[in-house]
Amino acid sequence: MHQGEEERGGIHQPFYDTWVADFMLRQDAGRFMLGKYLSDKKIPWQRRRRLGMAVAGNTLTASFLTKIGKMQSAGCRLCRIAREARGESTDGLADETHGHINSAGCEEMATTVTAAHHSIWRHLYDSMHAAQKPKSKLKFVTLDKESNMSTLWRREEFLRICSKDDLAEKAQDIEVTIPVKKSQEARDNFDPESFFVNRFWGRRSDGFAINKALKIVYILEFKRSTDRGERWLEVKDKEANE
Ligand SMILES: [Zn+2]
Repeated sequence: MHQGEEERGGIHQPFYDTWVADFMLRQDAGRFMLGKYLSDKKIPWQRRRRLGMAVAGNTLTASFLTKIGKMQSAGCRLCRIAREARGESTDGLADETHGHINSAGCEEMATTVTAAHHSIWRHLYDSMHAAQKPKSKLKFVTLDKESNMSTLWRREEFLRICSKDDLAEKAQDIEVTIPVKKSQEARDNFDPESFFVNRFWGRRSDGFAINKALKIVYILEFKRSTDRGERWLEVKDKEANE
């Protein structure tokens, strides 16, 4: 690794406190686009109002309403509906925050949120693809429903980067450091010898880009949550490893 690669403003450390702050303060980006949207009279007022509240952090969630003394419990009302419909206990509901109801962690919202994730990601992926300069050495990989690490590593473009055996060996070293879910451990055929490498081959990602000349595969993951809070990375890491 080159010296100084970890400096602020690089790909590992935001220049300001958070990536959101970086985006907001970038010329002609964050605040400019936000202002354009909020002042666009063609967009229904309710949508603009909702975005304004999300940015200001005062969306009328149970969590916010409890904080200002207007509600008794911060527990998510949507999760409650989902659990009642299944006849399950409504103890230990997650807090109804803006982040929660916009995440697949919300039981009632999961399907909608997942569909939103796919549709936004598709748009972003196509935009990145379309914005590529002719000289770019990056090739975006077209995925299908069956694409996981195992099926991708049968394709020639991936095999040219390294062999399946070499990759399995490296992946094993990393996989053993990632916690195993209780449900996986409980399975009869849990065998540590094969479990970690199989878990790796079954992994899916939102997208891939390959630089053939440098033999690098970029794994693209799309997260919609903001890093405005200090615990952002910790929370996302935990979710990703679950
Ligand atoms: Zn919920």
